[in-house]
Parts: sequence; C-alpha cells; structure tokens
Amino acid sequence: MTVLIRNGRIVTASDDYTADIVVDGERIHTIGRDVPTAGHAEVYDASGLLVLPGGVDVHTHLDWDFGVARTADTFGTGTMAAAFGGTTTLVDFCNQDGRTPQAALEDWHGRAASACIDVAAHLILTKISEQVLIDMKSLIRHDGVPTFKLFMAYPGVLMVDDATIFKAMRVARDNGGMICMHAENGPVIQVLIEEALAAGHTAPKYHETTRPSLMEGEATSRAIKLAELAEAPLYIVHLSASEALAAVTEARDRGVPVHAETCPHYLFLTKEEYERPGFDSAKFVMTPPLRDRHHQATLWRGLRTNDLQVVSTDHCPFCFNEQPLGMKYSKRQGVDNFNRIPNGAPGLETRLPILYDGGVRQDRISLNRFVELTATTPAKLFGLFPRKGTIAVGSDADIVLFDPGETWTIRAAEHHSRVDYSLFEGRKITGRVKKVFLRGKPVVDGDKWLGHEGGGTYIRRGQAGRL
Ligand SMILES: [Zn+2]
Repeated sequence: MTVLIRNGRIVTASDDYTADIVVDGERIHTIGRDVPTAGHAEVYDASGLLVLPGGVDVHTHLDWDFGVARTADTFGTGTMAAAFGGTTTLVDFCNQDGRTPQAALEDWHGRAASACIDVAAHLILTKISEQVLIDMKSLIRHDGVPTFKLFMAYPGVLMVDDATIFKAMRVARDNGGMICMHAENGPVIQVLIEEALAAGHTAPKYHETTRPSLMEGEATSRAIKLAELAEAPLYIVHLSASEALAAVTEARDRGVPVHAETCPHYLFLTKEEYERPGFDSAKFVMTPPLRDRHHQATLWRGLRTNDLQVVSTDHCPFCFNEQPLGMKYSKRQGVDNFNRIPNGAPGLETRLPILYDGGVRQDRISLNRFVELTATTPAKLFGLFPRKGTIAVGSDADIVLFDPGETWTIRAAEHHSRVDYSLFEGRKITGRVKKVFLRGKPVVDGDKWLGHEGGGTYIRRGQAGRL
C-alpha cells in the first residue's frame, strides 16, 4: 500500500526542490521526478504547496496536574491541536512530583496513551537523591528519556540547588543525556513577589515586574558555568531576555555546548499586553513573562546567527474562564493575587503558521531556517533524528502540506485545544497548514480531522545534546 504526493515544493533544513514522494507503509520510500501515478492506494497533488517535515515541538505540558491547577488539554486534545498546526511529534514534560522517576513515567504513559501524534517524554526532576542519579542512567539507556528538566526558579516547589544541578549534569554527560534548564533566579524573584503583595500590588501585571530579565540572565549565566565545569551539554528552555542570550552567545563563542530555544510569544508579543484592562492580562501570565520590546530584535538576531536553535511552544494551557472545565483549569484562581494565576499559555496550534508569517514572510529568517528551527534541530538535539525532523528516504512519513499564500485569522473559537483563548486572537496571518500525514496516514485534511486518539506512538529517543 503506497501513497504518492506529487509536484510539491519539498523544503528541508538544507534543500528546496520540486519532486514526488512515495510513502510505503509508515516511511518515505522514494523521492523522485515524474513518478508514475498508477498503482498507488492514494495520490495527492501538492502543486503550489510547500511540503515540509512534520513539526517537532520539544516543550509541552499536556494534562499536567500540579495540585492547585491542571493544564486544560488532555493528550487527545493537545495532540489534535498540534496536528492542525503542522506538528506531528512532541516531547512533553513528565513531572517527578515527589515520586520515583519510574513511577512518574508510568503515570505519564497512562495519560499519553490518548495521543493522536507521536510523543516522547522528558522528566522534570525535583527531588534528586543518589538513587535518582542512578535511575537517570536507565531512563536514558532503557526508557528512551535522555533529557531532564531542572528548575532554578519556584523555590520550595520545583527548584533544585546548584550542587544538585551539577551532579545531574555529570550523570547526563556520561550517559548521552542533557539537562534542560528553567533559568531564573527563584529566591530573588520570591523576595520581589512578597514585597509586591505586601504593597498591595496584586494585578496580573506584577507577574512581569517581579520577574526581571536581569534575573533570567543571571541564572542562565550560572547554569552555563555549571555545565562548563561539568563538561556537559545544556539546553536553556524558553529564553526570553537579551541578558540570557548574551550569556548563551558568549559561551557558544568559546565552544561550550550550550543550546537554547525561544517561543513565538516572546518573538511577537511584548509586556504591553499586561496593560490590558481588568483581568484580561492574565491570559499573558507565563514564565518568563513577556518582555520589553527591545528584547525581540536580539531574539531574532539569535535565531539568525544560530545562538538560538529551536522555536518551541511551552504549550501550558489554562482556561481564562472558570467554565466549563472548572476552577482548577482556570486563570481565575489568581483574580485577587497574581501569584496564584497558573503560569502558562497555549501555542501548539499556531507555532508554524505564526513563525512562517512573522519570520519567513517578513524576511527575518529563510524558509530553510524555518524548517530547521521547528523540526530538524529539535529532532537532532533531542534524539529523534533522522526518523523525525526531515524529509528523506527512510524517515517517517510525517509530512505537512502548507499553503504559503492563504490568509486567515487566528480565532480561539476555531482551534482544537480545549483552552478558551489564543494569545494571538484576531491576528491576520498568511500561510496555512492544509494537510498533515502522520507516518503516512492523513490526520488533517483542511478543517477535517482524520486522526484518532491512540493513533500516536511513544518514541524511545536516542542520545540528546549531540549535534
Ligand atoms: Zn514549560
């Protein structure tokens, strides 16, 4: 049973040409010119469309229950939204949450079974005993989980100290793993939060004033120094600030293997969103917060010069309204206190089109670089390449047909996530996902959903952090 995709403009991180693709089963079998149309189970005409590798998003929080709040998307709804946005693989954060890593991972597998696209897991480690350091080896070697996220923020909840970070980095180094770092100076931020609340500053905008970019820069720089001493690869998640990028750039110039991602909201939105009236600005409460406009030019430069290598979403959705999912899923918990607003925002469905519109069409990045940032490099850095992240003979047939000319308007009412708002509501953009294939099977056809819960598979990843 073969599928033929004809006459599309195939774009990878390095190539750009028009050809036909034959898919046999789940993989790309042939790429060539003038492939005969007879004898295939399905034939798709991709004339006028870009043929892109399925997006790889390495930063999501689906169905994450952390006691006081829970993210609004299940693996079923979140991965359907991802597919409509042209993403066919995601790496989601499984939280240790006081358990053994193995118990946390088993629980994650139970929830992830409803995924409609392919999924893999990173582990967030919050309690790192000597036993957990030993467990990390088998997670990397046997469970296909080579990446671990540590927090330098949220003291008393998620934060680990520098000694623990250093130990974990060395275990990762010796076993083909990589530490992913949430880099903000948590204890200092805690002082600022307490001072703000004591002064009666409870509105959402104080989320931004209490998390200064300088403290993201400080923690990023500290994390890099620890990694340098440990001789371990490091990945900075959701980098938002010039100070942090300066630290990454300086280290990379010296050959230190530090990598970093940013997210669409830092590229296209600014802290002006916190001046919205009433509680509306709570929609933009994510960590790190939106920054002053001047950071954006630095981030775009970083994407061009490869000091930033990945654009991921940090999809961590909480509803704006309490209904219908309930207060636990809602930003409203923090209506009287910004510190109780669940931190996070949606983005899975808009990552590719918004970066195409605001990046490629605005001549900030090339089309090849767009594919590299959204699929190829995340696949390479996180142990998924060459199965994922490119269009090549033998790779999984995760293929997106993308119309570079269609103009449409982003509306939460039309998206597929369970969350009830979009950071980009009402934004008119050009470039739209038309068809998506997951391992050779069509899952999205225009606005028609052809996928199903459980249609995704767990991907056991290889070594991480080795480009
Ligand atoms: Zn996150």
